[in-house]
Amino acid sequence: MRLIQWIAILFSIALVLHPSRNIPQTIKWDINYQLKSIYQPGEVVEFKSDYPLAVARLDGKTLTPIFGLRSYWGTAGFQRRDQFTIYGEFFDRKPNWLMSHLFHTTEYFFTLHGKIDRLPIDQASKLQLSRKTWSKMDDKFAQEKRAQSRKIRTAMKQSQGNFTNYCFKKPLNSFIVSDFASPRTLPNGKSYYHTGLDMRARTPTPLPAAARGRVLLAEKMIVPGNIVILDHGGGIVSRYLHLSQIDVKPGDYLEQGDIIGLTGGTGRVEAPHLHFEIVWKGRGMDPLNFIEFSKARCSNNGTVRNLNP
Ligand SMILES: [Zn+2]
Repeated sequence: MRLIQWIAILFSIALVLHPSRNIPQTIKWDINYQLKSIYQPGEVVEFKSDYPLAVARLDGKTLTPIFGLRSYWGTAGFQRRDQFTIYGEFFDRKPNWLMSHLFHTTEYFFTLHGKIDRLPIDQASKLQLSRKTWSKMDDKFAQEKRAQSRKIRTAMKQSQGNFTNYCFKKPLNSFIVSDFASPRTLPNGKSYYHTGLDMRARTPTPLPAAARGRVLLAEKMIVPGNIVILDHGGGIVSRYLHLSQIDVKPGDYLEQGDIIGLTGGTGRVEAPHLHFEIVWKGRGMDPLNFIEFSKARCSNNGTVRNLNP
């Protein structure tokens, strides 16, 4: 081999083994994007970036991209904290391949903070549960209830594919009897925030799917009663609780409007109604806010409508 070839090989090895190459330098970058000053519990948090992002997370959960628009969204949440953080990293902006191999890789990151205006938990209203209802779900069943919550969490993790279909609508057009995120107290004194929206529904009202989806779970449980969970992709699911009858099984594909079952008053309820939820990566969303957000982006063929051309 000629000397020049040896030099070329040694130079290549030196590039790859260059000591500083794999030590990224992180630089905080000021972006001129302003979040709203205050968010409602479970509200959609939308974020747009002028540059493509390598990483975009909200409280550690990867934000949902609206493909091609450099727009990302997640939800403010509300249950454990009254604030949230968006963390992002831009793709490395190195002038060219040679420079990037000779020098540090540089990561430009940014953080944005948002506040959530949630009601104090001590303003909770007491749930009026009948003794008969409560006796079916008190602490005797703690272990069973925990196993069922685990089963629900596991099922929601089976969400597949990307979230691309923004065509959602309210399953029923009835009166809202209890708001999302309202604080409540159980007969045993434990307080929590309402994770869904309660809609008036006389038993048995046929219940349509809010959007196209695949059934992840359909079964009878203690607290939710008869529950159905639909997967819409990307960790986004809709949940329907307290049904009197379930007409679908796990694995079924449903179109928007297909009947899931009949509404009812099973599980932990004061009276028959539909408890409806939209969950983003394990986090409850305000269903009305999400439906409004998604409607504006729903085109008839189920693809995303570009709001900001
Ligand atoms: Zn409810």
